[in-house]
Amino acid sequence: MSKKVLILADIREGKLRNVSLESLAAAKMVADGGEITAAIFGSNGKELADTLAHHGADKIITVSNQELDQYTTDAYFQAFKQVIDHVGPEVIFTGHTAVGRDVSPRIAARIGAGLLSDVTGIEVDGGKVVFTRPIYAGKAFVKKAVKEGIIFATLRPNNIPAQEADTTRTADVEDLSVTLAADTIRTIVKDVVKKSSDGVDLSEASVIVAGGRGVKSEDGFKPLEELAQLLGGAVGASRGACDSEYCDYALQIGQTGKVVTPDLYIAAGISGAIQHLAGMSNSKVIVAINKDPEAPIFQVADYGIVGDLFEVIPLLTEEFKKVLA
Ligand code: FAD
Repeated sequence: MSKKVLILADIREGKLRNVSLESLAAAKMVADGGEITAAIFGSNGKELADTLAHHGADKIITVSNQELDQYTTDAYFQAFKQVIDHVGPEVIFTGHTAVGRDVSPRIAARIGAGLLSDVTGIEVDGGKVVFTRPIYAGKAFVKKAVKEGIIFATLRPNNIPAQEADTTRTADVEDLSVTLAADTIRTIVKDVVKKSSDGVDLSEASVIVAGGRGVKSEDGFKPLEELAQLLGGAVGASRGACDSEYCDYALQIGQTGKVVTPDLYIAAGISGAIQHLAGMSNSKVIVAINKDPEAPIFQVADYGIVGDLFEVIPLLTEEFKKVLA
């Protein structure tokens, strides 16, 4: 049976995050011919509407209030709730991002829907939608379906591939006017200060070169940065490296850091503590570089290199340069 699906486009620094396009691919899987609507908030929503149409949105609702240019819980909650009331979806998807994780439980509670968070896979079986999500910090996976009511899920970035862009696709664009009473918005964002360096967003990167305490210093991260840049990837870190002040906590991957699922994860000088594995063990290919052949990281690695990272990383960089030349 066809389903009406609504996705919330996730924007960072005026650009659509990939997870918005992945949400449209997920919507296509469950819609079964039903209408797919994308909601996009902020004053440059209309500029991004074409991309959403090219990736599968049939309808786009832009809400252009200036209060939505920067995320605040109150403004997004009110706007999203009004969009949901307007669209009347049977399925709602957001990214499992800072925005989706914050706003979705509030909305779900308000509309009386159950919420499946951090979904990594979707199967549709004779009209029944079954979601996969990790439990016990990624050590096991559970499959769940919603028995009745609205299906609401947050989708982990990098797990459901976006559809190829079809530039001939168009969508109806509706500018919805919503009421955002100023006295109900309790937070004002005055400035956004970027902590991590420019480059690829860690949570959406397809290649991550991560360093641990074995990197030994801030300068020790330089060879990792060079390799990451060559591969169009991002640099990540273990908490050991962050605690030792070799890098910023914005790079931390793991149970209390970011959860990532890149195509390639290169772990250099990381022992492989369970809390680190919780953030990266679902990466598609894991390469571990460690001096200690007994390091637990080798148990989850697809490829293990026993050696000194300061010898191995430059060698890898040279080899990749030849291949990519
Ligand atoms: P170490 O365990 O010190 O390992 C360093 C490794 O580098 C060793 O295996 C060593 O053999 C290798 N090495 C040294 N020199 C070289 C070299 N030249 N070449 C190659 N290899 C070399 N950790 C996280 O990462 N993320 C989290 O989110 C996180 N959350 C936590 C939450 C809680 C509640 C707790 C208690 C802990 C958490 N931790 C987390 C910490 C975690 O338990 C580990 O302490 C941490 O991951 C260790 O970091 P590390 O592997 O870089 O350091």
